[in-house]
Amino acid sequence: MELELNETQALIRDSARKFAREVVAPRARQTDREERFPADVYKQMGELGFLGVNVPAELGGAEAGVVAYTLVVNEISQACAATAVGMAVTNMCAELICAYGTEAQKKKFVPRLTSGEAIAGAFALSEPHTGSDASALKTTAVRQGNQWVLNGAKQWISSGAYAGVMVVWARTANTGSKGLSCFIVEQGTPGLIVGKPEDKMGLRGSNTVPLTFENCAIPAENLLAKEGEGFKLAMIALDGGRIGISAQAVGVARAAIEASCSYVKDRKAFGKPIGEFQALRFMLADMQVQVEAATLLSLRAAYLKETKQPFTREASMAKLYASEMANRVCDKAVQLHGGYGYIDEFPVERYLRDARVQTIYEGTSEIQRLVIAREILKSAAA
Ligand SMILES: Cc1cc2nc3c(=O)[nH]c(=O)nc-3n(C[C@H](O)[C@H](O)[C@H](O)COP(=O)(O)OP(=O)(O)OC[C@H]3O[C@@H](n4cnc5c(N)ncnc54)[C@H](O)[C@@H]3O)c2cc1C
Repeated sequence: MELELNETQALIRDSARKFAREVVAPRARQTDREERFPADVYKQMGELGFLGVNVPAELGGAEAGVVAYTLVVNEISQACAATAVGMAVTNMCAELICAYGTEAQKKKFVPRLTSGEAIAGAFALSEPHTGSDASALKTTAVRQGNQWVLNGAKQWISSGAYAGVMVVWARTANTGSKGLSCFIVEQGTPGLIVGKPEDKMGLRGSNTVPLTFENCAIPAENLLAKEGEGFKLAMIALDGGRIGISAQAVGVARAAIEASCSYVKDRKAFGKPIGEFQALRFMLADMQVQVEAATLLSLRAAYLKETKQPFTREASMAKLYASEMANRVCDKAVQLHGGYGYIDEFPVERYLRDARVQTIYEGTSEIQRLVIAREILKSAAA
């Protein structure tokens, strides 16, 4: 694995950094405080190729690969994790339709996602009674003539009120995980009801809503992949999604370190800048080492996916380590700021709130440990 970025990767990283610093970061605090979903920013991200970083150019993507994708997520998350989460989910949906869609589905839906015309994509798997155990989901899809009719409820769907294109999982047979199928649903379809946004601890600029399907009829051709393949698709998409969360965690932790470095140089106690106290220097050193370790795990998982090698275990390891790391690092950043760390005049309290969900969504830390253990035992038996 090369540790140097190639020209494409460096270019898109620099473009994301510029955009993150000039457009996303200046409004991040307001996005958080006013819980304002940054729809206009998604349009701009579409123009820059950030909504389909690993999607072919003929479908409106940047065709820059998975490593490039993690670099873009790092940069946008460093500025505003709430903006990054919708961007990451849009990439996930576009990639999934590219990989499993018919030619007609790809042509119809992917350019709408990558361009920002759909504003964002949504990934609707979790339900009120089940998140970790996706095979227990209860939403049904019944074939009626040339339509599928969906009934049921989804919970915590990121960008759900804004997403023009959604990928939705539903049960088409009572055969456990083998009875799940995946569908493409457009915003505004009669019978799709968007609920009240959740009042969240962090990622407050991200839109998280429940969705209800009440006799929601979609065209038969909106079935993604084959009937009964939904669980497989969800697991494949989540493997890739976990790389995105690891990159998001790295971005937030980098922001926390940057804020901390600037604060400890400025703040004085006992007649000198607090950055001169060894106790705080040790904290900063440990924070930096952990971010670098998480970065390497994240990039390795991305590289394996990009080069079409197995990456399930590596994606889970990157997600587990990076998300727990971001929580530790952001917590230390608050500590380094003393009382100012606890108020919203400084950004580190937002970083800590934003980092908290990273050990929960796209598979909790406990689920990542189950996946990692399963994978290492599988290879040990071979
Ligand atoms: C802000 C936010 C955005 C989200 N966005 C989306 C989205 O866009 N799309 C979507 O589909 N979902 C989304 N989710 C849902 C998220 O993926 C789930 O919350 C997550 O998968 C956990 O599921 P759960 O909440 O049902 O917890 P549960 O599955 O009920 O788990 C509760 C606890 O039990 C533990 N647990 C469960 N099973 C096991 C086990 N076998 N062994 C050990 N421990 C276990 C868990 O680790 C956890 O600690 C989002 C959630 C949040 C908070």
